[in-house]
Amino acid sequence: MRKSREAESMSKKNLRANAEKFEFQAEVSRLMDILINSLYSNKDIFLRELISNASDALDKIRFLSLTDKEVLGEGDNTNLEIQIKIDKEKKILSIRDRGIGMTKEDLIKNLGTIAKSGTSAFLEKMQTGGDLNLIGQFGVGFYSVYLAADYVEVISKHNDDKQYVWESKADGAFAVSEDVWNEPLGRGTEIRLHLRDEAGEYLEENKLKELVKKYSEFINFPINLWASKE
Ligand code: ADP
Ligand code: MG
Repeated sequence: MRKSREAESMSKKNLRANAEKFEFQAEVSRLMDILINSLYSNKDIFLRELISNASDALDKIRFLSLTDKEVLGEGDNTNLEIQIKIDKEKKILSIRDRGIGMTKEDLIKNLGTIAKSGTSAFLEKMQTGGDLNLIGQFGVGFYSVYLAADYVEVISKHNDDKQYVWESKADGAFAVSEDVWNEPLGRGTEIRLHLRDEAGEYLEENKLKELVKKYSEFINFPINLWASKE
């Protein structure tokens, strides 16, 4: 059963009511707190991190497909690309890949509950004046989305599971629920950034084009940019 668009947009204020709630691992929570309150000017780096994660996910499915062609599925699912979409009206920037995707368990572990050694190392570096730009090297690049967004949804479909939505407003908690709201992805992941008011520049096509050009240099998959109003 699909819920209405109204119900979907209301969720920006409150996380989905019936979702399973989780607390971030303590250091991850601290890191997110720093990022969401950051006055760091080079916020662009979040796009580099998201493109890099999408590329990793595509690499993984491509690698698996070398020994098992079936994993790629058919039709659009065989299209190993990255799509970036701008929704000016809703102020949403989304990055979508047809990579390996995440199961429900992957979403819970990879995006919140499993402590990574890099988290505390990065926090320490930051306290001694380290550059936020290095975030990716500490294995916590995903969280840089909170430099530009105050609410993020991660929709994901892995071959071994149903489609799930992860969501968080970086307030110490996140929620995961089976996705009954969005179109089926087929396979892969869509990261939806509900941009902060100050991050409106990421809704501008020219800005995005420039960033994609800059960050796609070592990416082996096509990146397509769409601006839509729907
Ligand atoms: P890193 O990429 O260094 O592992 P990140 O913080 O960027 O650290 O991402 C954390 C984890 O979340 C990744 O290792 C991966 O398991 C998962 N992940 C993030 N983005 C995606 C994606 N687009 N597709 C599949 N898994 C993803
Ligand atoms: Mg990464």
